[in-house]
Amino acid sequence: MSTDPSRETIYTIPVNDAFSRPEPCPLCRLAERCEAELLDYYLGPSLMEPDVRQQTNAHGFCQSHLRAMYLSQKNRLGLGLMLRTYLEEGRNEWCGNLNQAAGAQAEKRRLFGTKNSDSGKEALRLAAQNLRQETEDCVVCQRSAYTMDRYMDVFCWLFGHDPVFRQKFNRTQAFCRPHLALLLDSAAKYMDRRTAGELAAALADKQARYWDKLSQDVEWFTLKFDYRNTDKPWGDAKDALPRAIDELEGRTEGGLTPDEST
Ligand SMILES: [Zn+2]
Ligand SMILES: [Zn+2]
Repeated sequence: MSTDPSRETIYTIPVNDAFSRPEPCPLCRLAERCEAELLDYYLGPSLMEPDVRQQTNAHGFCQSHLRAMYLSQKNRLGLGLMLRTYLEEGRNEWCGNLNQAAGAQAEKRRLFGTKNSDSGKEALRLAAQNLRQETEDCVVCQRSAYTMDRYMDVFCWLFGHDPVFRQKFNRTQAFCRPHLALLLDSAAKYMDRRTAGELAAALADKQARYWDKLSQDVEWFTLKFDYRNTDKPWGDAKDALPRAIDELEGRTEGGLTPDEST
């Protein structure tokens, strides 16, 4: 159940800002803002602080955040220094993984001839799994998930207690599919049954209308390829594909539709 988090203005203000426009998806706007602040933080002066460096060495960054840092063109020297220590510390662990996998194969060959045994395969899979975990581990993802959870706690409180915020929510056109899932999880975590019921009903109605319109726009986009429709107006169909993709997968990680507020 949500306790009154509305006094935590550091979370309340961004949530209210994100819902100040009806366009989808307010939670993409929140997440984008949060991730941009975190990327600036890790590329800013904090980069030289030992405890921050310890964090970035331990976890590293995922593909999308590493690329975003590089493409921002901010502080490439800092990014270089971070990558250097990450590589220096990481390579021992990764080499250890590979050596272990190779060693397990050699051992089995000695014992059982050339046949690939189950435990040899298991060692390969384990090494792959460790590498994959390291690849996906990311300080920005971790901290933005934490902050988004704080935002969702605030959202649930505002939805249940603040009539002005409820009006803003009612004007919201839709949420992207990933954030719809986040909303439902958060409702289960922070809302009482009655409020969660109101939210779920409102979402069911909102999303049905939005998905119907989006589907019609995508259809009209495809029909515009028919020569008989060449001279007919585009309506809302011109950007239907990027809007559909952002709706289905979320705009946060390199969305295709521009955020008008920036
Ligand atoms: Zn979203
Ligand atoms: Zn990440």
